Amino acid sequence: MKTLFKNLVGLRQLLKTIDLDQISKLSQKVDLSKMVGLVSQMSEEDLSKMMGMLKGGSKPKVIPAVNGDFYELGKTLPSHEREIQLRVREFMEREIKPIANHYWNRAEFPMQIIPRMAELDIAGLTYKGYGCPGHSFLLEGFIAMEMARIDTSISTFFGVQSGLAMGSIYLCGSEEQKKEWLPQMQKLEKIGAFGLTEPEVGSGVAGGLTTTCKRTGEGWILNGQKKWIGNATFSDMTIIWARDLDDQQVKGFIVRKENSGFKAEKMEDKMALRTVQNALITLTHCEIPEADRLQEAHSFKDTAKVLRMTRAGVAWQAVGCARGAYELALAYTNERKQFGRQIASFQLVQDLLVTMLGDLTAMQTMVFRLSQMQDQGELNDEHASLAKVFCTQRMRSIVDQARELFGGNGILLEHDIARFVADAEAVYSYEGTKEINSLIVGRAITGHSAFV
Ligand SMILES: Cc1cc2nc3c(=O)[nH]c(=O)nc-3n(C[C@H](O)[C@H](O)[C@H](O)COP(=O)(O)OP(=O)(O)OC[C@H]3O[C@@H](n4cnc5c(N)ncnc54)[C@H](O)[C@@H]3O)c2cc1C
Repeated sequence: MKTLFKNLVGLRQLLKTIDLDQISKLSQKVDLSKMVGLVSQMSEEDLSKMMGMLKGGSKPKVIPAVNGDFYELGKTLPSHEREIQLRVREFMEREIKPIANHYWNRAEFPMQIIPRMAELDIAGLTYKGYGCPGHSFLLEGFIAMEMARIDTSISTFFGVQSGLAMGSIYLCGSEEQKKEWLPQMQKLEKIGAFGLTEPEVGSGVAGGLTTTCKRTGEGWILNGQKKWIGNATFSDMTIIWARDLDDQQVKGFIVRKENSGFKAEKMEDKMALRTVQNALITLTHCEIPEADRLQEAHSFKDTAKVLRMTRAGVAWQAVGCARGAYELALAYTNERKQFGRQIASFQLVQDLLVTMLGDLTAMQTMVFRLSQMQDQGELNDEHASLAKVFCTQRMRSIVDQARELFGGNGILLEHDIARFVADAEAVYSYEGTKEINSLIVGRAITGHSAFV
């Protein structure tokens, strides 16, 4: 009798170690009263062995760390560049992640982050001289990825400043213009914007710009409109591309915010990249001195040089947006329980996660090689265009699959993933749509231009 009592106490302790859901399932398969009878006949030694086995079996599972860089490409960076990559990651996770939804929801830009971002010393990362650090395009790609992994709006703000605006001056400016603008822009003391697209001319900018410039005695007069111009509501200057009424060539101008005839109005009600401040710019008899014309921009070919340099960065942004979404989804599947189990333990969920990871890893290896080619001076338009097409398409599919894994919570901003789905739509279309980039690659591989 004493032994039976002792065994039952042992059994009670043993059952306490078992998940109640599991016991209820077990009772459907095993006659539990019969089992209790059998246990009561077990020797002390067998009972303690069984308890040991069950205890061992109920150890909490070790969940692997979430890591979207499955092939560990980041580890191939030289240590000083890896350290910069991780510093940017920490900044994004600590300072941007907690405020990202707040500013996105209100369609406002968190101006207070600009000085903190400046401390990272990453603007104009690949340029040499003028206070710029002269690092590799590969590191620049990783930085675009790290930013978009947390907030694609912040990555876009930075891409406009460091790539499009500073890049226009770096590639097309005179020595004086570089000396005046690049050191201040590198420190984010001056903010830039890049005005190419117009209300009626997007994909067709190469031959179709309607904004005009006309030489006067001392300078130039600009007239026209620009649409979608990121940062331009608060930037200190905007690079404006305009067609010269005399020689019909495209020229570039540094238009300062105080220039008379320059008006930038915030574009309202966007459903993507809401934190980015896009402007509709109207230039009405805007007078610009000759000293503010980009001295080395003689035709659209020079504008295209800037776009060629920055398009690889947009492919990296797509990787970041997709990686952020994949990592959020993977973490969520280990938190969310249905049918008494984490949804990560379901075969169909794992299949979706593996599909996403396969796409993500293909994208990462593609942009990794793209940036190596850029560092070696071997990058052509078609290389960057293929990466933009492929990565933005795969990004769209990954963010959709990630949202799917959140079920209804996927449309709530508080779970972040909805923001990634929306923002992916803008990255898909800007800096050349899928069609335009496909036509660039198509022309390179077939020898036939199919633009019109
Ligand atoms: C959030 C955001 C930020 C942006 N920031 C900037 C910025 O800072 N500065 C700037 O200058 N611009 C900016 N843009 C503009 C962006 O680059 C353009 O939206 C893009 O180039 C496409 O032009 P579009 O929107 O006028 O589309 P459209 O050119 O009108 O294209 C509409 C559709 O027609 C298709 N199409 C057009 N031509 C062809 C063809 N020949 N063959 C097949 N299909 C074709 C396109 O692929 C697309 O699917 C931004 C855009 C967005 C959405």
